[in-house]
Amino acid sequence: MTQASLTIDLDAIAANWGALARLSGSAEAGAVVKADAYGLGDEKVATRLMAEGAFSFFVAETQEGVRLRQALGPTPEIYVFTGHMAGDADAIKGARLIPLLNSPEQVIRHRAALPDHPFGVQLDTGMNRLGMEEDDWKTLAPELLPHSPQLLMSHLACSDEPDHPMNAHQLAVFHRMTDGTGVRRSLSATGGILLGPDYHFDLTRPGIGSYGGQPFSEAQPVVHLSLPVVQTRTVEAGETVGYGNSWTAPRTSRVATVAAGYADGLLRSLTGRGRLYAGDRPCPLVGRVSMDLMGVDVTDLPEAPETLDILCPAQGVDELADAAGTIGYEILTSLGGRYARRYTGTGA
Ligand SMILES: *Cc1c(COP(=O)(O)O)cnc(C)c1O
Repeated sequence: MTQASLTIDLDAIAANWGALARLSGSAEAGAVVKADAYGLGDEKVATRLMAEGAFSFFVAETQEGVRLRQALGPTPEIYVFTGHMAGDADAIKGARLIPLLNSPEQVIRHRAALPDHPFGVQLDTGMNRLGMEEDDWKTLAPELLPHSPQLLMSHLACSDEPDHPMNAHQLAVFHRMTDGTGVRRSLSATGGILLGPDYHFDLTRPGIGSYGGQPFSEAQPVVHLSLPVVQTRTVEAGETVGYGNSWTAPRTSRVATVAAGYADGLLRSLTGRGRLYAGDRPCPLVGRVSMDLMGVDVTDLPEAPETLDILCPAQGVDELADAAGTIGYEILTSLGGRYARRYTGTGA
């Protein structure tokens, strides 16, 4: 049986994380492994990064933290971005997670349920997504600081645009909210690490750069995705391919049908814009991307291919994302569960 195969290079993830750790200078580099390590497998990825020296891991939700604790054992710290959600106290305690408290409600909930349990505080410095507002923090800081938070953190909204004035604005607000507290601080994800030492504080939080995505342009590619050709046919000039007759052959063409589609995270918006590769030779997608299948014009190849690649040295996650009108993060986290996943490198 030939199945679409997704290869994940753990050595490349380790090298990318190591490079971001070096760029973090004297700050510790944590590792963001939310959403199943951006779809690449949190257990494999986090285990390898722990072997590389990562100690502080970040997940989005308590349940991700519980899984991660089982995978990593008792040693590392595991922070939860969504903080202490209702009903999670037992899980937080059992897995020794560190919730990043986001609001006065979460502070009350945490102090009531787990008064002696470690916590951090997430501060809003302008993104208006998660975190305590400056006024709430002013009121709560005198009460919380004596309980020794593990971390004060915030998140940058525009760090992938180095010249955006929002970066300096959020940096100033973060200083105003945290200077003199004596608590460990963290502001930067991948983009912030690249903004330089002013943004590093004590702990950085690289995610996408470790997985080979922008804005870390020096990242090594991490994923390779190869799709089997189910059949190849001749399509005469004037005939159409796929749903809605959206592509009409301009010449007598050879069209390969490959076994993957939007149910596998190959977004329907690639229709008319995407390419697959036979080695370094591009072959355009033709017709609409359907749920499990896509058509590819292979007329110009010397022979009918058995497989075609959609993520490969010639087309990385960001190039595919550009064609789909999205970002590398969405490409990675959309990769579905039907691929035969193979890991390469130490820890595979
Ligand atoms: C996702 C996330 C990160 C990691 O961001 P990247 O851009 O992937 O490096 C860091 N901090 C927070 C709060 C996040 O939500």
